[in-house]
Amino acid sequence: MASALSASLTVVTVTDSITLADRVEDLLPQTQCTKCGYAACRPYAEAVAVGTANYNQCPPGGIEGVARLAALLGKPVIPLNPANGVERPRPLAVIDESLCIGCTLCMQACPVDAILGAPKQMHTVIEALCTGCDLCVAPCPVDCIAMVPVTGAATGWDAWTEAQARAAREHHDQREARLARERDAAEARVAARRAASSTASEAAVAVSAASAAPADTPAPAATVADDADARKRAIIQAALERARQKKAELAAKGAGPQNTERVSADVQAQIDAAQARRRRLGIEENAESAPTSPAADAPATPRVPKP
Ligand code: SF4
Ligand code: SF4
Ligand code: SF4
Repeated sequence: MASALSASLTVVTVTDSITLADRVEDLLPQTQCTKCGYAACRPYAEAVAVGTANYNQCPPGGIEGVARLAALLGKPVIPLNPANGVERPRPLAVIDESLCIGCTLCMQACPVDAILGAPKQMHTVIEALCTGCDLCVAPCPVDCIAMVPVTGAATGWDAWTEAQARAAREHHDQREARLARERDAAEARVAARRAASSTASEAAVAVSAASAAPADTPAPAATVADDADARKRAIIQAALERARQKKAELAAKGAGPQNTERVSADVQAQIDAAQARRRRLGIEENAESAPTSPAADAPATPRVPKP
């Protein structure tokens, strides 16, 4: 009797913890495409739940998706809002590898880590993970990503399954968790560097003061600052030299940058900005020597024929 009561209480607790936003989110296709006007499916679900977004703003779900939300909310089925896009056959992203310059902008835009590549290396799409969200297309500076329809005449939920939606949601959540870990790690590194630099500066001031002839003559602040600047310049110089050597070694092995000879100034600026972002996040170490991707351990699948 006691165990039956306990089981019953457990069910009630779990049921009560599911919010309306959870229920709305469960009905969304999870392509994370942002076409609804929100950063991902979850924020849209929350907006629908509190009534700040309408339930007809998700083109990947199509009219079937609107009907599912209408049933949950007890409202009539209304047409998709054309301002958010149209219902269409589901596409997959295909990269023309002969044009790819390896800038990684598409990888950074992909909400489900479906793109495999490394800086200045050719990139490719892992079909099984691609949700057809289009988000990689716009950032590509050389227009080498095509969205190829792969579901014939089937559109919306007829072209997408519950299992695919669950998988896409999981991949998106994993990516968000990874990005949060990387941000935390980068912040921790910056804090550690600041702490070390501050300790070194204090030590330098102490040494300088102790070695000054008259005990009551403080070391000039400019001298300490000059020393710190000189050290910084030496470190940067050494890093640049190491980078030059590494580039030369890679080029000698035929593993240097691909298709980077004829990029425009605009494209180069985008590549530089992407690299600067990675450096700020502290995630570029060994990127050139060991091609990796967040989804590198996912199984590669046969590619879609080029259009
Ligand atoms: S699939 Fe796209 S449009 Fe639909 S809720 Fe998710 S992010 Fe919004
Ligand atoms: S590869 Fe492109 S279209 Fe496919 S999920 Fe990633 S960003 Fe979206
Ligand atoms: S954005 Fe375009 S050029 Fe850059 S890595 Fe992706 S496919 Fe290649």
